[in-house]
Amino acid sequence: MLDKDMADARSGGGTVPNDLEALWLPFTPNRQFKREPRMISRAKDMHFYTPEGRAILDATAGLWCSNAGHCREPIVRAIQEQAAELDFSPSFQFAHPKGFEVASRIAQLAPGDLDHVFFANSGSEAADTALKIALAYQRSRGEGTRVRLIGRERGYHGTGFGGISVGGMPNNRKFFGPLLAGADHLPHTHLPENRFTRGEPEHGAHLADRLEDLVALHDASTIAAVIVEPFAGSTGVLPPPKGYLKRLREICDKHGIVLIFDEVITGFGRMGTAFGAEYWGVQPDIMTFAKGVTSGTVPMGGVVVRKHIYEAFQTGADHAIDLFHGYTYTAHPLACAAALASLDVYRDEGLFERAGQMAKVLEDAIHTLKGHPLVADIRNCGLAAAVDIVPQPGSPGLRGFESMKRGYFDHDIMLRITADTIAVSPPFIVTEDQIGQSVEAIRAILTSLDGG
Ligand code: PMP
Repeated sequence: MLDKDMADARSGGGTVPNDLEALWLPFTPNRQFKREPRMISRAKDMHFYTPEGRAILDATAGLWCSNAGHCREPIVRAIQEQAAELDFSPSFQFAHPKGFEVASRIAQLAPGDLDHVFFANSGSEAADTALKIALAYQRSRGEGTRVRLIGRERGYHGTGFGGISVGGMPNNRKFFGPLLAGADHLPHTHLPENRFTRGEPEHGAHLADRLEDLVALHDASTIAAVIVEPFAGSTGVLPPPKGYLKRLREICDKHGIVLIFDEVITGFGRMGTAFGAEYWGVQPDIMTFAKGVTSGTVPMGGVVVRKHIYEAFQTGADHAIDLFHGYTYTAHPLACAAALASLDVYRDEGLFERAGQMAKVLEDAIHTLKGHPLVADIRNCGLAAAVDIVPQPGSPGLRGFESMKRGYFDHDIMLRITADTIAVSPPFIVTEDQIGQSVEAIRAILTSLDGG
């Protein structure tokens, strides 16, 4: 961190507002937060800063998105310049040049013939877009009876009705009515025999065969698509068992089912490659992305589809709309400028490769927590890792929540929690020392929770 930046932050990048009541925060216990707010007012490179100027090490790349680190100068400049030049451009029937540029860059990065890009504004919209394209594709090729969608337990595909229907987190579903009809779930891949595995576990490829069971149950002629994250991120970094994704691909091919990879977390470098599809050598038919595409700076998401899928929509009359879907902010100019600048930074600084190198450092560091009395499991995949804490009897989730708070207040570190799981997924500019610091902070927090 530059001395000047540090000085700016200390001088107060903001103050705590007087009124905390009006804002309703997502996925947050609001009453508790308002008693004990955890405020962020500035960021630079690997750190967030509190209004008082305290530097918080960002061990989570924000919400898995700030892959290039924070407030990177070329990205900031590109957004500023774009705001002054073209602030908005209608996204239906008209377009602006940067939209095409970003799409081409993404298509070049995507493996095989995944070469047509449809933009949305978030991971949730990307997931819903992918599901809708899969359904419309099946219909356009004369397979209109294929209306069932299959997700996976412990899958996370955002919070739209499509995403929560195929998603597999009970709390994200159970408050919201019957959801989409005809959604099924494969079993999750977190097997007890794989505890403390480094990287991809040996056991569990057979879990992909449960797709055959669903085909037997419903008939392939009713199934449109399967959606999975290459590794499940938000539900605790669950790497795919060796061979699992290939098996899923084979079964989808056999039965004419569209395979969707939700690459909202794995996309843009976290595996050391542009996409998880490349890392695992398995090509989906549709791939979602968001987060890292703009390094978290401006909301953007989207899907990349294979050539035959795009072409199936290009058969009508010249004036006929080919897909009845889109958003006012599809390919928003600010997001496009941010994406182009982020992709430049990733390329110029070799950040995907760096993520691949740092993944090994993180793996070695995080597994030193094995043996701690409160540690029930440790997993890692690419530049991401998770530690399962033994839950406090009678209060599941409490130790995870406490860890996040102690991280912010006592150890100056941002940790991500889902119930009693702590996840780390730093920006790709993270140093070996900062990885070490993150793991030592987790160790200290766990020891303090254990009464140490
Ligand atoms: N899909 C996956 C795999 C995700 O991890 C997320 C967000 N964590 C989403 C979709 C939803 O993204 P957003 O919050 O931008 O809607």
